[in-house]
Amino acid sequence: MTASLPSSASAPVQLTARASALARRGHPWFYRDDLQRDDVPHAALVRAVDHEGRDLGLGFTSAHSKLALRLCGGWSEPGVPDRMRFFTARIHAAIERRAGRLSPESGVRLVHGESDGIPGLVVDRYGPALVLQVTSPYVEQSLDAVVPVLVARLQPEMVLARNDVAVRKLEALPLEVRLLHGKRLDEVAIAEGPVRHFVQPFLGHKTGFYLDQAPARALVRDLAKGRSVLDLFAYQGGFSLSALAGGAQSAIAVDQSEGALELARRGAERNGLQGLRTEKQNVFDYLRSQRESEQRFDLVVLDPPAFAKSRRELGGALRGYRDLNRLALRLLAPNGFLLTCSCSHHMTLPAFEDVVRQAAAGLPFKVLLHQRLGAGTDHPVWLALPESEYLKVLVLQRAD
Ligand code: SAH
Repeated sequence: MTASLPSSASAPVQLTARASALARRGHPWFYRDDLQRDDVPHAALVRAVDHEGRDLGLGFTSAHSKLALRLCGGWSEPGVPDRMRFFTARIHAAIERRAGRLSPESGVRLVHGESDGIPGLVVDRYGPALVLQVTSPYVEQSLDAVVPVLVARLQPEMVLARNDVAVRKLEALPLEVRLLHGKRLDEVAIAEGPVRHFVQPFLGHKTGFYLDQAPARALVRDLAKGRSVLDLFAYQGGFSLSALAGGAQSAIAVDQSEGALELARRGAERNGLQGLRTEKQNVFDYLRSQRESEQRFDLVVLDPPAFAKSRRELGGALRGYRDLNRLALRLLAPNGFLLTCSCSHHMTLPAFEDVVRQAAAGLPFKVLLHQRLGAGTDHPVWLALPESEYLKVLVLQRAD
C-alpha cells in the first residue's frame, strides 16, 4: 500500500544454516548474526527462507533491536502480501479463534502477539473500547492498516494505543498514550460472571486491567463462599470483588497505592458488595506485622508485580518470592487456600514451584498442590515460543 514498504518483489531474507535448524524446529526469533546478509530492510514484512532456500513463511524485520527477524507464520500465496491483506487475514483469524467471547460487556484479549501471528501487537477489548500495545516497528508503521481493519470488524467507540511500555525503547519507539480512533472513554465496565470490573484504559496497568487473571478470578469466586479472604498486592481489587461476589464473608485488600485501593472500594460499592476492608501498606510489612496476630484466613491471594524484570534480578526475586510465600502460608487457617502467582517472564514454572516448595518447608502443616493455572485461553501460549508463557498460578491448600 505504501511505496516505501517492500512489495512482493523484494528478495526473501535468508537464515544461516545454524539458524535454519532452529527455525525448522519452530523457533521464531532471530538475531542479526542469524541472517545471511545484515542489510535487511527496517520495519518490513518479508518472506523468510532457510539456508537452502526453503520457505519459512513471513517475518517482521527490525534494524534497531537485537531481534532482527521475528517469524510470523506461513502464508499460502507466493511473495509478500500487501499489509492490508496481511492484517485483515491475521486479525480476523485471531478474532475467530475467540468466537463466543465477544459479548458487548466482555473483556478479552483479541490479539496476543506472536501467538496470533502478529509479533509485537496486543489488542485488548474492554466492551466498547479497544486498547492496543505495539512493540514492533512493522506494526507501528502499519497502524493505518491495523486500525481500519479493527474498526470495520468490531465498530469500537474508541481505539487507544497504550504505548507507554518500556520494551518499546529497545525498538527506538517513543513511549506514548495515543487516541487512534473515536472518542475518549476514560472508564469502561466489563462483566465477569456476576462482577463488573471498571477499567481505565488511559491509566490502568498494562492496557487497563489484568485480563490475564480471569481464570484465577473465576476460581476465587468458586472457592470464596463463607470464607475470609486476604488479597495481597490487590491493585483495584479484582480478586477481592470476585471473592465477595462469590459469597466471601470478608475481604482485606492490601496495596501500597491509595489510588488503587480507592478504585477497589468504589468497585465494591458499585457492585453492591459488602465486606471489603482496604489496607494501604507495603505487603512485606503487613505480613510481618501479622506474625504477632492470631488472625488466620481461609483464602489468601498473593499476586505480586514481576520482581524479576531481567535475568540478572532473578536471585533477589527468588528470595522475595520465597519470603512472601512463607509469610502468606503461615496466615492460612486449617484447610485454607493460597493462590500464589508469578508473572515474571524470567521465572519458569519449575523455578517458581521450587521457590514455593522452599517456602512451605518447615511449616507445622502439610501443603497440597491442587491446581496450576495460567493466563486465560485468550492469551494462548505458542508452543514454539515458551517465552510467551509468563503467568503462573499455583493453588495450594493447608492440610493438617
Ligand atoms: N492482583 C492485582 C494485580 C496486582 S498488580 C489484580 O489482579 O488486579 C501489583 C500491585 O502491587 C500494584 O497495585 C502495586 O501498587 C502493588 N505493589 C507493588 N509492590 C508493593 C508492595 N511492596 N507492597 C504493597 N503493594 C505493592
